[in-house]
Amino acid sequence: MKTLLYSTLTTLLILTLAACGVVPITGRRQFNIVSDAQVLAASAQEYHKFISETPTANNTAQGQRVIRVAKKVASATEQYLRNNGFSSALNGLSWEFNVIQSNTINAFCMPGGKIIVLTGILNVCNTDDMLAAVLAHEISHAIAKHSNESMSSRIAQQYGGQLLGRAVGVQSGILHTVISEMYGLGTEVLVNLPYGRKQEYEADKMGLVFMTLAGYDPNGAIELWQKMARTTTATKPEFMSTHPTDEKRVKALQEYMPQALQIARGVDPATAKRAAESTRKNGKSTSSASSKGNNDSYEGGFHYEIPTKK
Ligand SMILES: [Zn+2]
Repeated sequence: MKTLLYSTLTTLLILTLAACGVVPITGRRQFNIVSDAQVLAASAQEYHKFISETPTANNTAQGQRVIRVAKKVASATEQYLRNNGFSSALNGLSWEFNVIQSNTINAFCMPGGKIIVLTGILNVCNTDDMLAAVLAHEISHAIAKHSNESMSSRIAQQYGGQLLGRAVGVQSGILHTVISEMYGLGTEVLVNLPYGRKQEYEADKMGLVFMTLAGYDPNGAIELWQKMARTTTATKPEFMSTHPTDEKRVKALQEYMPQALQIARGVDPATAKRAAESTRKNGKSTSSASSKGNNDSYEGGFHYEIPTKK
């Protein structure tokens, strides 16, 4: 047992050392052993199947509104990343925005920048600033390669021992098995890939920067989550009623706001982070939401709700 544990830990250590990526804006190091090409090859089929079988509302007034805001945020995001040495974050991304008629309040992002917005969320987003917050959050999941990261940790958990000695080269058979499990191949479920709390907070933070760069008011993100908190549970996605963390999310956004504004004004993210940390050390922290270990589950967010087919 001890040997097995030791071997698994060693494997994970080797894999971690061999495969660390850095997330733009937050500078977080992430564990990633899956390439963009592998993720795309395995998920493209599911995405195209869903899109070809589901009528979109792209040509309606609502659809056009979503696509206009999405393109604006994506373009500002790309420009920022290219001008600030993060071009590699754009590798493998080819934006596609689709709007689907559904009362469910949700939006999600599949690998490669394929973003799907359900019209139910537009009832909450009555301003373009709020809508930009949703889209910037989804775009951030793609930029931060959260899918690759989730798949990597799942592969390491399930196949850690087998991967020993060939740290980065994940066998395509293993990848396909994991994708099938995560994306629910052959079931009613389109996507079933919950992001972790860390990834959700990260997408929120990055999203604040990207929406500001696109000319939207970042307070729209706070307004959005305050409104979500007030939305009756009957119309909210189920996971949001079981994980009532909207208030913590608002606190974390408020705490990050000065840093996001600095970055959007051109301050290097690392410098902005150091400045925020020293402000927090010198003065009293205005919010301890992100520093006190809140162990509640945080699977809330806009993504990977299961769209029910008619
Ligand atoms: Zn999310």
